[in-house]
Amino acid sequence: MMRIGHGFDVHEFAEGRKCILGGVDIPSERGLLGHSDADVLTHALMDAILGALREGDIGQLFPDDDPAFEGADSLVLLARVMDVVRGRGCAVVDCDCTVAAQAPKLAPHRERMRENLARAMGIPISSVGVKATTTERLGFVGREEGICAWAVVLLDDSPSPERLRSCA
Ligand code: MG
Repeated sequence: MMRIGHGFDVHEFAEGRKCILGGVDIPSERGLLGHSDADVLTHALMDAILGALREGDIGQLFPDDDPAFEGADSLVLLARVMDVVRGRGCAVVDCDCTVAAQAPKLAPHRERMRENLARAMGIPISSVGVKATTTERLGFVGREEGICAWAVVLLDDSPSPERLRSCA
């Protein structure tokens, strides 16, 4: 059976922080505030995967009051979410993500984000979509108060041996 998952996340801008999206350290005047590396794109993707698994959310798996996750590399956390996927005998078939940011410019970094996410998930880059948009200066994104991201995931909960091999 195929299952779908949806994820959404928001992080606010802060001085003196890095702006890491999809594991790419993006040149930016300000970075994103968070307990981990605040990679809002990877967080939305993890929540989409956990949603498809019906396994709660990343707040349950990686509590933000746990010192173990302070400054955590979200790509490492994504790889751990994929351990849960494989442990359940499932496979991520496809995913697509949208990041809404007024600034910085994200398009030049899109392919590296796709590569990083695909590598962390152990799936082909053709199975990972990343898009970026502004919000035409509307709302908290448009006022450059923060960045948000959405992700959808298609999960096969009884994958064929061929599918499992392609995800190895
Ligand atoms: Mg988050």
